Amino acid sequence: MKILSVEILRLESAQPTVIKIPWNPTVIRINTDSGLYGLGEIGLAYGIGEHGQAGMAKDFASLIIGMDPTKTEEIWEKLYKTTFWALGGGVQIFAVISAIDIALWDLKGKALGVPVYQLLGGKTNDRLRTYASQIQFDWDPQMQPMVTPEDYRQSTMKALEDGYDCVKVNPIGFDLQGQWMNWKTSGVLTRKQINTAVNRVAAIREAGGEELDIIIELHCHTDTNTAIQLGRELESFNCLYYEEPTSPLNWKNIKKISDDIAIPVATGERMWTRWGFRPYFENQAIQIAQPDLGVCGGISEGKKICDMASVYDIGVQLHMCGGPIATAAALQVEAAISNFVIHEHNNVSINPENIAFCVHDYQPVNGYFDVPDLPGIGQDLTEETYRNARRIVVE
Ligand code: MG
Repeated sequence: MKILSVEILRLESAQPTVIKIPWNPTVIRINTDSGLYGLGEIGLAYGIGEHGQAGMAKDFASLIIGMDPTKTEEIWEKLYKTTFWALGGGVQIFAVISAIDIALWDLKGKALGVPVYQLLGGKTNDRLRTYASQIQFDWDPQMQPMVTPEDYRQSTMKALEDGYDCVKVNPIGFDLQGQWMNWKTSGVLTRKQINTAVNRVAAIREAGGEELDIIIELHCHTDTNTAIQLGRELESFNCLYYEEPTSPLNWKNIKKISDDIAIPVATGERMWTRWGFRPYFENQAIQIAQPDLGVCGGISEGKKICDMASVYDIGVQLHMCGGPIATAAALQVEAAISNFVIHEHNNVSINPENIAFCVHDYQPVNGYFDVPDLPGIGQDLTEETYRNARRIVVE
């Protein structure tokens, strides 16, 4: 089998978002002389950088034309070692390598007629516990700001009604006017800010009862000091973990936070490769690793990161905030790894417009995902999505 061409498919969505960040999943399709093709999604659907990722994908795709797509390690090494800049890291570089790698695994599974999890060692987890993520935007496809404790009680109730027993919330993302990331959360937090966050989490705890698991998300908008301030105030709510309390660029800051508060700390969605995760593992700076398969280097690299985490008794929750291709890839890896903790199901993953990009609508039932058994990652774009995508073809 040989790679004939690579298509870069930029999907457009008018999905409403209260945080005013564009939502544009970019999918890579690798076509072969066998007629089989594989799909992978670049993990940068949200945030600013859409043009960069498509351009990077175009440049990198030209390097794999004519190669045997089953040689996932050889291709990964080639992209890593012969592109000059990849040896120094970089989110766009590794997000593109990720999508190419996921597409290759999809192809390999299709060629062998098995789901990807079979190629990774088989199923360790039959059903994947799942949480409702980002309920500060409500638990509803029509995202909106949750401001008062009553808002948080209601969004929690919606997640509970959908069968979840775990939710994630950023309790300090919206200010009292409902503006996202509009107040200063570095330096020191005021009593008003702390009380706002505490009252919101209290409302969630009250709505969900003592057995609801609550993940606190901070999106790196706190710093070392304010994350510790807030973490100490939230300890009494017995939260499951404390996510991205500050930027991951300095692992010592994250390590200090995890040493200073009695809540397990998680990070990883803005990190890539085994080298990126290494200091976090070796220094036991986190308790939960959150690599995003569409950013960290794909399925090849993601599996290595998960296995490295297991050496340090660190659990894995793959970060998920992409389109349905990204979800399908994550389910395959989560089925196989021994240190799986929980699957993230984001508000965007229940949005009809996002769901409509693809042929299959994978959703959890009563808070658990079944893992698809179709060959490869078990997902495809619809004819309409192919037709409407802005397309770059590399031959
Ligand atoms: Mg996050």
